Amino acid sequence: MIIDAHTHIGDLRSPANMHRKPITMEDLIARLDDEGIDKAILLPWPASPDGVQFPTLLQPQPDILSQIREGQRYPDRIILFGNVDPRWGGNTAGTDFSWLFERFVEMGCAGIGEIGANLPYDDPRVVNLFRQCGDWEFPVTIHATGVGEGQYGLIDEPGSPHLLNLLQQAPNTIIIGHGPGFWAQISADATPADLLSYPKGPIRDEGVVQKLLRDFPNLYADISAHSGFNALTRDPDYGARFLNEFQDKLLFGTDVCFGDDEGRMPQLNWLKERLAAGDISPEVYDKITCRNALKVLKRWRG
Ligand SMILES: [Zn+2]
Repeated sequence: MIIDAHTHIGDLRSPANMHRKPITMEDLIARLDDEGIDKAILLPWPASPDGVQFPTLLQPQPDILSQIREGQRYPDRIILFGNVDPRWGGNTAGTDFSWLFERFVEMGCAGIGEIGANLPYDDPRVVNLFRQCGDWEFPVTIHATGVGEGQYGLIDEPGSPHLLNLLQQAPNTIIIGHGPGFWAQISADATPADLLSYPKGPIRDEGVVQKLLRDFPNLYADISAHSGFNALTRDPDYGARFLNEFQDKLLFGTDVCFGDDEGRMPQLNWLKERLAAGDISPEVYDKITCRNALKVLKRWRG
């Protein structure tokens, strides 16, 4: 079985890229069929104002609930997640999310994400939310970014002091890293600007991503989007070594955001190529494309 751990539906265009094709539920299922993918985690988007672009507001399923309902139409293919903004619910570090989480469980949600609030990872409201996700056995997919205007996602700096702080304060919450702010730090020389982009070049000294993946059993990462693919391919020899060392921590995903061919992502073919080349074993391939996802989806009953 192959699980795409990072998918979306909806209109994720900005006014600057209106030539792109929004992605419907049917487009998503057709892509899964075409690429031989059995199931997909559907991440409702956006829960946070930081992730809203104007076309998003005008789409047929503009909110978390309507996107979950779309996913419910395909119970054999779609693994549902809820989504939350840490600032909802009274804007304190003591907000109780159980009322909402009960509803998510009733709807069949098995996790939370992707989190797009533009707050530091260790903002007390973020820590409060993540600790409760752990209590409810919800893995949390995050979008990570650096410091800058017009961004969405949890904020970090080179060396990941804020993610470290969150991991220490929410040790029972499975956190699935994703986004430029996370993946740029596969290399020790990541600059503040790199955390907003896709830095190239060989990895001479490993970054804080590797250290945190080793030190924290609750930290995982999905290899989706340009950020994940760039991190794994900027230094091809190192990328294969990384897959092997962290074979128990990585989840295949795409983060396909559009219904056009331009929006397809190369991760699955690349993993198949690594398998065919002998860079990874069938067992490693199976862990990354399926078994690690099943491991973190404690609430999902298939
Ligand atoms: Zn995404």
